Amino acid sequence: MFPFKTTEGEATFFGKTLPALMTARPDYASVTYGAGGSTREKTLEIVEQIQNDFSLTTMAHLTCIKHTQAEIDAILDEANNRGIRNILALRGDPPPGEDWSQTEGGFEFASELVTHIRGRGDFGVAVAGFPEGHIDCGEGREVDWQHLVRKVACGADMVITQMFFDNADYFQLADYLREAGVEAPLFPGIIPVANAGQIKKFSAMCGAKLPEAFAARLDELGDDAEAVREYGIEYATAQCRELLDRGAPGLHFYTLNKSKAVLQILGNLGLS
Ligand SMILES: Cc1cc2nc3c(=O)[nH]c(=O)nc-3n(C[C@H](O)[C@H](O)[C@H](O)COP(=O)(O)OP(=O)(O)OC[C@H]3O[C@@H](n4cnc5c(N)ncnc54)[C@H](O)[C@@H]3O)c2cc1C
Repeated sequence: MFPFKTTEGEATFFGKTLPALMTARPDYASVTYGAGGSTREKTLEIVEQIQNDFSLTTMAHLTCIKHTQAEIDAILDEANNRGIRNILALRGDPPPGEDWSQTEGGFEFASELVTHIRGRGDFGVAVAGFPEGHIDCGEGREVDWQHLVRKVACGADMVITQMFFDNADYFQLADYLREAGVEAPLFPGIIPVANAGQIKKFSAMCGAKLPEAFAARLDELGDDAEAVREYGIEYATAQCRELLDRGAPGLHFYTLNKSKAVLQILGNLGLS
């Protein structure tokens, strides 16, 4: 989920979207954190409300960018006071047009945030993983995966991947982590494609490639929004089925604050 921008968005989320998603009995939810802390209060408020009103374990995302260690500590104290027990520890990305730079008195990599949170002893910690390698890692995906192994060794309980559309990338990362002795589960991040333009933008921003046949089919469907949505569900269903058949420990959906596509996919899989 991501923090909503309007009160109507909030009403829809708590009144319709989340109750619908709850019918699938999720293990947890997680709520994103806006760049540089722009959604700080909102993220923590939403996590607290989901936990209180829906009794669903919920994880707050937290990013290092533009935060000093003292600010991070204040956020963790506030999270703790609100009864939040789980953090997805991230580096974060600079706002469009800016290059990444470490904040003075802050952290350079997510691994440092993991170590810091672990040192406080009061949270479960998840981290991000990149089946195709992180977009900024010029040395290639295996070097990025080595960084991931070290990040997990700093004390992460689980890894959630960036969206991907070729399961081979997930399985290769899973094999790599297994061979490196990583025991933390690797949850595949799945996005049901609902809009061709949006997914092309997202994938260019984060470096997730769209397989040729998939991109060609989206082009063929063009502006037929309903057909794109159906194809997105069909594609994600096939992806999820193979992932579960071949040992993925579960599924993490990027819901984009919507319920229908995710519920349809789970229905197709016989899991709703
Ligand atoms: C599941 C998930 C949820 C997300 N949620 C949010 C969110 O809520 N808000 C938000 O702003 N962003 C979010 N992001 C995006 C994330 O912040 C970016 O992808 C960011 O660029 C990388 O974050 P990270 O935590 O993986 O960084 P890191 O693990 O710090 O890695 C960043 C880069 O540094 C490299 N690196 C790591 N360690 C070292 C080292 N020791 N030496 C040299 N290089 C190193 C890595 O290879 C990588 O290229 C999310 C991503 C995912 C996959």
